[in-house]
Amino acid sequence: MQTLPVNGVRKVIAFDCDDSLVEFNRKLVEFYNRRHGTHFEWEQMTTYEIHLVYQCTEEYLTEVVWEFYHSDDHAAMEAMEGAMELMAYLATRQDVEKHVVTSRVEELHTVTTGLLHGHFGEVFEKYHFANHYGAKPEHVQRTKAEICLEIGAVVLIDDALHHARAVAAAGITVLLPDRPWNQGEIPSGVIRMRDLHEVCIWVKENV
Ligand SMILES: [Mg+2]
Repeated sequence: MQTLPVNGVRKVIAFDCDDSLVEFNRKLVEFYNRRHGTHFEWEQMTTYEIHLVYQCTEEYLTEVVWEFYHSDDHAAMEAMEGAMELMAYLATRQDVEKHVVTSRVEELHTVTTGLLHGHFGEVFEKYHFANHYGAKPEHVQRTKAEICLEIGAVVLIDDALHHARAVAAAGITVLLPDRPWNQGEIPSGVIRMRDLHEVCIWVKENV
């Protein structure tokens, strides 16, 4: 086990939640299909604007997702391949702070921490809610780049290309788990990762 560095400064790793630690879209597609009698598949999600795949409006999908957050399906969301190994390793790294940086709105604090505690225990020290997805006028929105700079993150793990691009432009390395919606060219400063096993190897070598 690595102990605290002599100067007391711990390195910060930032983790997106949905589709970076847990299989959000795999569970959402089951939830959506069951409610609508449809047969959409996860592999069809080749755009981040998934309402286009579901052939509904963004507003309607936001309502469905809000219900999903409070459903048993949300609680049953699985950890991503390699996530348990990665977090078990990071739990031994006392020189590293683990933060969650999510687009979710802050009202989802309880369900989000409950979900991640259930999978990974108390490994995350801080949760930051950027208030993007499903935000109301009263929400104060922050970009992931602003949050990552503020917390001094050395690396962000995130599946969304637009967040990856902005955070990398702020000078912070981003590891991008490979997903159907983030294919194609990736911005400089972003490293594509086949899965979280590969992320674990990268972190062992670079953090
Ligand atoms: Mg995500």
